[in-house]
Amino acid sequence: MLGTGILKGLFITAKNLVGSYYDKERLTTLQYPEEAANIPENYRNFPFLVFDGEDAVSTLRCVACKMCEKECPPQCIYIVSEKDEKGKIMRRPKVFDIDISVCMGCGICAEVCPSSAIKMDHIFEVTAKDRFSDLLLHRDQLAKSVDYYKQIHPTDFAVEEKARAEKKRVAEEKAQAAAAATAAKAAAAAKTATAATPKTDVAKAATATAAV
Ligand code: SF4
Ligand code: SF4
Repeated sequence: MLGTGILKGLFITAKNLVGSYYDKERLTTLQYPEEAANIPENYRNFPFLVFDGEDAVSTLRCVACKMCEKECPPQCIYIVSEKDEKGKIMRRPKVFDIDISVCMGCGICAEVCPSSAIKMDHIFEVTAKDRFSDLLLHRDQLAKSVDYYKQIHPTDFAVEEKARAEKKRVAEEKAQAAAAATAAKAAAAAKTATAATPKTDVAKAATATAAV
């Protein structure tokens, strides 16, 4: 019948309107800012950098590969690698800036990062007076602990930790197999050398007898 869909929609709206007076689950609005929004785990806004230890700078996961900088669609990431005293490029960023007034929250930087070093944050209450000085975030402002990451993305964190443990196990097994192979090779070489020694001695003795 013509208009059935509209009537069904109106019925659902009316049901939720009336139900919201009795059932809090039906309320789709919040008394913000007194009530905090229940943000889903996969919500994303601006990126942040993850560090593992106590010191934010020395334990940053970022290895300054610049992959995120290259892939960022609006080009709002700027990275400069750290150099040692001889000018050799090190695997950590000296400068890591993100202009969050340009960032569109696409999450591509987090997807392409090979080190799980950049993740998407849940913050959305960002206000600033100066667009240039306040919304250009630097390395130390972007750095957040792995505990914070675990708290806002528990599922992703668990999956990544499992993969990391598996990778470590495989690497350890490979290293053990390589060490065992090297030891077996060395033992075989030693055995061959021991077996060859008496023959040499016999040859030397024969030469000495002939000379007499
Ligand atoms: S979320 Fe998207 S736009 Fe923002 S820094 Fe990452 S890649 Fe760039
Ligand atoms: S955050 Fe990730 S992709 Fe970006 S430079 Fe650091 S390691 Fe590379």
